[in-house]
Amino acid sequence: MKRYQGLTIVTGRTFGPLIIDQVEIDDSQAKSPKEEWQKFSDAKNELSRELEQRSKDESLTSETAAIFEAHQLMLEDPEFIEEIKRHIESGLAYEKAVLQAAQDFSDMMSAIEDEYMQARAADIRDIAQQLITKQDLDVAGKIVLKDEIFPSEVIEYSKAGAKGFLSLKGSATSHASILAKNAGLPFITNLPPEVMTLSGTVYLDEDLMVDLSEAELAEFNQALQRDEATRQRLAKLIDQPGHTADGVKRQVSTNISSLDDLLQALELGAEGVALFRTEFLFMQPTLPTREEQKELYRSLAKALNGKSFIIRTMDLGGDKVNRELDSGPEDNPFLGLRGIRLSFDKIQVFKRQLKAILEVASEYPIKMMFPMVTNLEDVYQVKEILAQAEAELKDEGRAYETPMLGVMIEVPSALALMKEFSDEVDFVSFGTNDLLQYTTASDRMNSRVSRWYDPYQPAFLRLIARSLEDAKGLHVGMCGDLAADELLIPFWSAIGFEELGVPAARILKTKQILLETRSRDQAEWVDYVLSAKTSQEVIERLRRD
Ligand code: PEP
Ligand code: MG
Repeated sequence: MKRYQGLTIVTGRTFGPLIIDQVEIDDSQAKSPKEEWQKFSDAKNELSRELEQRSKDESLTSETAAIFEAHQLMLEDPEFIEEIKRHIESGLAYEKAVLQAAQDFSDMMSAIEDEYMQARAADIRDIAQQLITKQDLDVAGKIVLKDEIFPSEVIEYSKAGAKGFLSLKGSATSHASILAKNAGLPFITNLPPEVMTLSGTVYLDEDLMVDLSEAELAEFNQALQRDEATRQRLAKLIDQPGHTADGVKRQVSTNISSLDDLLQALELGAEGVALFRTEFLFMQPTLPTREEQKELYRSLAKALNGKSFIIRTMDLGGDKVNRELDSGPEDNPFLGLRGIRLSFDKIQVFKRQLKAILEVASEYPIKMMFPMVTNLEDVYQVKEILAQAEAELKDEGRAYETPMLGVMIEVPSALALMKEFSDEVDFVSFGTNDLLQYTTASDRMNSRVSRWYDPYQPAFLRLIARSLEDAKGLHVGMCGDLAADELLIPFWSAIGFEELGVPAARILKTKQILLETRSRDQAEWVDYVLSAKTSQEVIERLRRD
């Protein structure tokens, strides 16, 4: 077997005949500029009509419709059209003129070191391809390989029954990638150019594979059968609320950074959002306005349709920086002005975000939580700023509502303040990614200390379990990655975590594990796990070995 690795955008096991899509341009002599211009105008009008029709297709998600609308705007861009005209007048056939103009524009955009601009550059190349005549490919049941797969092709080919996509160029944030994720079709990009010489049947898992031996093929087919059986078993849980075998409700929510994440998670049975990481909004070159924030928070709340929605205020600092909000170099940024501390330092930006959340909370049920809270004074200070934001909204005559408030438990000192928090806020959410790194003094991104960044250490689990004994009256959730840890899920449930925030792809598995778990009368097992002395012993006891 030969394996080719690339950037796997959508993982999925599948196979099929490979079909290579190559753009072929009619190389015959250009006619007069007037005739070429006429051909271009006809093609443009037809595409414009098509795009308008597509953007109105009610079966599309708002995100996909927005891509078509953006394409329509690009198609009407006077500078783009002017450039095409210039090339036609210099004697090029319209197809070449379109491709040349698109290349110039996309080179200009790609030169800007920003993933967003690079993705938009791909959109303009996509428009160009749609303007020139394309070969009609029969992609049904096949895996499509192309130098670069465009958004319109993901839509067209998935409708036509393609089983997966491969390409040489692409990025995780491109529109084509977003659409492939939405369609749930396997997609690997950034493959080496030599794959263009492949033919026959290809196989996909995390990678692209060819030339499987008989034994490898048999193994692949067995894995496919197992996938299908698991899929069918888990799909039954999509609409089921999370609960344990003994009927204890355990909400399986998700963690998101965008509307796209949310839509995917809802399709996979998310019962709410345990964490919306808003800082990504603040990591763009220009800070978001209040109106822009409101629009996004609203669109998420609308999509959630009443399901619980926790917005975390901007958690910048550490590795998440914005040039405008940067408060200078620090020797230890993860121990520096991070999370709520930076928000206190950039109070106007923080207050703007609070106001946006408070306004949307008057329209939709929203909860708001604060990152990196270390002591009770942090909570008092948040409340003071919140009161100022409310007073200002009142003066502005805006409708607002104070949402339910929560703090993240991700600094060890916060573990010892549960009683005090229960007097001040409505809920807590454990951020285990940071809680573990601060408890064990092991940088979560430094592989040299990953041995110490160990969630199965009895000390770590004891600290969490003890803190929950004081959390009476608080809704207790978890939004760190450990919420999806298969070994720990039964333990979290047994010690009282009511909500687990997990990535979309882990929702059904988490529901399944909970269903196989008992939550009542587990004190003896919990004590048994916690009395282990080493990580290995904890693992054995979690497995109930
Ligand atoms: C955490 O620390 O567990 C958490 C959820 O926050 P982040 O990963 O965004 O720091
Ligand atoms: Mg954190």
